[in-house]
Amino acid sequence: MKHALVTGITGQDGAYLADFLLKKGYRVFGTYRRLSTPNFWRLQYLGIFDKVELLPVDLLDSFSITEAIKIAQPDEIYNLAAMSFVGASFEQPLASAEITGLGVVKFLEAMRNIAPDVRFYQASTSEMYGDNLFTEQSEDTLFEPSSPYAAAKLYAHSMVKIYRKGYGLFACNGILFNHESPIRGLEFVTRKITNAVAKISLGLEDYIELGNIDAKRDWGYAPEYVEAMWLMLQQDEPDDYVVATNETHTIREFLEVAFDHVGLDWEKYIRIDERFMRPVDVRYLKGNYDKGREKLGWEPLTKFSGLAEIMLKSDVERWKKWVNGEHFPWDAWNYPNEKKILSRKLKLDR
Ligand code: NDP
Ligand code: GDP
Repeated sequence: MKHALVTGITGQDGAYLADFLLKKGYRVFGTYRRLSTPNFWRLQYLGIFDKVELLPVDLLDSFSITEAIKIAQPDEIYNLAAMSFVGASFEQPLASAEITGLGVVKFLEAMRNIAPDVRFYQASTSEMYGDNLFTEQSEDTLFEPSSPYAAAKLYAHSMVKIYRKGYGLFACNGILFNHESPIRGLEFVTRKITNAVAKISLGLEDYIELGNIDAKRDWGYAPEYVEAMWLMLQQDEPDDYVVATNETHTIREFLEVAFDHVGLDWEKYIRIDERFMRPVDVRYLKGNYDKGREKLGWEPLTKFSGLAEIMLKSDVERWKKWVNGEHFPWDAWNYPNEKKILSRKLKLDR
């Protein structure tokens, strides 16, 4: 039986990947970081909490990484753990560098020393392309990061290539464009919208506050993207691949589609708020996954409006259950209103 070690198993991709690998017959070990309140709702939501084996790892602690590799004895490592929210990386640039950037090198060093035959997947990102390009982006496109998050990811991406070339490690970068799902974090714009639209449609909220709604993204469906991660590690040679849908849409369009599903006019429910504008934003992302299609045989099946529908249906269902007093694993009911969170964007009234 193959062993897989998945870092960040409590996150969106970690949970879907664990589910995917279990179905493939893997023994799945997942790393989580110790929090004062456990955070396993996604694994519970997918019904796999009892099927995965958990190991406490913090990417700030090399010792915990080495121990996890020794215990799990993995054939494959999927490094998904990171401080994944671009907006937060402007508030915590050092943590971004240490967790999202240096954390990866701790894995690569541990592998070089004690597990050189393990196959390694690194969660790279389309954010590395930055804000300069208004044409589609492929594996050969120049990177020019526009956030502390993207800069940290580009460092990690480069180190994966260096360890692959310099030490012969089987290490791959998956350059994934945005991918969403009903278990996407609530601070990301798609889920923030579907969650709010669900509440508005049930009379639980009046409006949504957003930032730059003209930005364009190439949005895909997370459960399909984790399969591409796995496919990369099944090839004869390690390489880097773009995973995307080759489509791009504005946040405005996402609003239109989401509100359409509940029969409301989006423009009546939107407020633009400075606090959600980033110091530098990435205005245009559109992937080109031709290499992945050709070499991995991978194709995205769920496109833009299908994705919005899946997410919206699920948020509406959950809020209806909540109104009926049902209990089930879910993040939204205890997520703080963003207004509670003070940030450097906020001007205090004195
Ligand atoms: P999530 O934010 O849902 O999950 C991130 C995971 O990383 C969580 O399990 C989190 O743990 C963990 N983590 C954060 N900090 C640390 C730390 N210091 N030590 C150990 N674990 C930590 O992200 P996604 O699942 O959406 O994304 C997975 C990966 O793919 C990330 O690296 C992300 O940057 C990258 N990516 C994602 C894209 C997307 O559109 N989803 C696009 C391109 C790349 P906890 O639950 O405790 O917070
Ligand atoms: P990202 O592409 O990884 O940064 O994913 P996000 O979902 O966080 O953001 C996608 C785009 O939506 C970015 O261009 C944001 O500036 C834009 N956006 C506009 N309003 C909001 C908002 O209220 N929250 C978030 N997260 N993004 C917003």
